[in-house]
Amino acid sequence: MKKIVMKFGGTSLATGENIRCVANLVADSAKQGCSVIVVVSALNHTTDDLCDAAEQAKKRNEAYIRKFKQKMLEKHSAAALKAIKNKGVLQEIEQIIKKTLDELEKVLTGISYVGELTPKSRDFVVSFGERLSAPLVWGALRDLKLESQWVTGKEAGIVTDANFGEASPLMNVTMHQLRERIGPLLEKQVVPVVSGYIAATQDGVVTTLGRGGSDYTATLLAAALAVDEVWIWTDVDGLMTTDPKIIPSAKMLPELSYQEAAEMAIFGAKAMHPRALEPIMKESIPARIRNVFNPENPGTLIAKAQTAKRTEVVKAIALIKDVAMINVSGAGMVGAPGSYAKIFDVLGKNNVNIMMISTAVSEANISLIIRRSLLGRALSTLEIVLLGRGSISEVTAEDDVCVIAVMGANMKGTLGVASRIFTAVARKGINIRMIAQGSSELNVSFVVKEKDGEVAVRAIHEEFKLDKAPR
Ligand code: ASP
Ligand code: MG
Repeated sequence: MKKIVMKFGGTSLATGENIRCVANLVADSAKQGCSVIVVVSALNHTTDDLCDAAEQAKKRNEAYIRKFKQKMLEKHSAAALKAIKNKGVLQEIEQIIKKTLDELEKVLTGISYVGELTPKSRDFVVSFGERLSAPLVWGALRDLKLESQWVTGKEAGIVTDANFGEASPLMNVTMHQLRERIGPLLEKQVVPVVSGYIAATQDGVVTTLGRGGSDYTATLLAAALAVDEVWIWTDVDGLMTTDPKIIPSAKMLPELSYQEAAEMAIFGAKAMHPRALEPIMKESIPARIRNVFNPENPGTLIAKAQTAKRTEVVKAIALIKDVAMINVSGAGMVGAPGSYAKIFDVLGKNNVNIMMISTAVSEANISLIIRRSLLGRALSTLEIVLLGRGSISEVTAEDDVCVIAVMGANMKGTLGVASRIFTAVARKGINIRMIAQGSSELNVSFVVKEKDGEVAVRAIHEEFKLDKAPR
């Protein structure tokens, strides 16, 4: 009998109709003899809304809290009404929603009294999204006469460190507890519905696994229960060769290796968080990205390189906007140990994440790519700390640039790929401002002016004939 973890994202749970559709997908697989473990995200936009509410609570905006509770109640009750037909089950779920929202109101009111929002209390607030969505899906499954039980990630046994907002699971206990607590349900042919994203510290304090963390919940369960596949249900057919908004003829990618999927995730594709890939990569459990609105489609398979092997050198191209480039230069940097370290240290301490780095052996200049919204902060701190201290003489920036990332595991060791990429771009008369390729050779990233970004993506897509990729 096949065992499958099915994770449903927020868009696939956006309305009561969608939740019903999700329940039908689960029921169909169960009726065909599959053991299904369901993992759910919060309903569409709920986590963002909870973050806003937490901020408003900190500002002591009590009117907002009252309105917010009402809005959440309406949203979840309306979904329940559409998703669940059986009166008894519906009433039970409505009770749970009310009780949970009463608790949320108390938590938000508490925050508003002290006027302080800590990472710990924020995690507690955002955990309510998945605490509300799981009972809804549970109700919809029972409505279809499926034996089911819902638990939070904490109850399921996911234990983490106390790094609130982006907690890391303590793997050994987590694996053991997931097996102990969820395994018996499967044996009794009960479908577990687990709230994604939520976990707890060893002392039972609620933590979250970071934004998008439901995927991680899914893969932790997959590894613990040694399932056959993980299906990440979302609202697109799978991963694409590039953004279809830029190139309408972009193709779906039938398969990718774990490493390629991790690369794509970093570049913002609708893939799984790289962290979520870890547990299944270790156990070689394949994952599939599938579309709830088009379940006929097999989706994109993410598996071991041997399974997902294809011959294309370039598989996908991503365009990353909203970035800025910083150039730090000074002849004094040449041969001066520690000058790069100083730059990274300043930015790190100010919470500026560096996305890309490039420097030449001349050492007189280093270019960095960061998020555009952080540029002001990055420049002012770099100027304060670095200028006039000998080795560094100039800090400049460009905020009208974008990054193009070209990705594919078979680029490794294939001669001439970089030359084809850059020739294709040059033929369009586009100037390249910065280049980086890690020695993993999984991707080549480069920077051009933002206005040239889409043209460059099209040129490379054409050069490697990605719109003709075999399906
Ligand atoms: N609801 C959480 C978020 O929006 C977790 C998830 O969707 O995976 O980040
Ligand atoms: Mg997600």
